[in-house]
Amino acid sequence: MPEAHAKPCPICGKPEAERFRPFCSPRCKDVDLNRWFKGTYAIPATESADDSEELERGLAKDGG
Ligand SMILES: [Zn+2]
Repeated sequence: MPEAHAKPCPICGKPEAERFRPFCSPRCKDVDLNRWFKGTYAIPATESADDSEELERGLAKDGG
């Protein structure tokens, strides 16, 4: 059974392997990972440090 619904590997274009999706091989998976380290991917700097100290919320009382 040939690959019917196999998408092309984003790295080399080969049909993806089920166990390495969406890549065709662990090698291509590595290549994609390396792109991250190299900085090929544009990572937007988000300054979302709005934290709320709402830890002390209505604690559930044990009804006896
Ligand atoms: Zn590939």
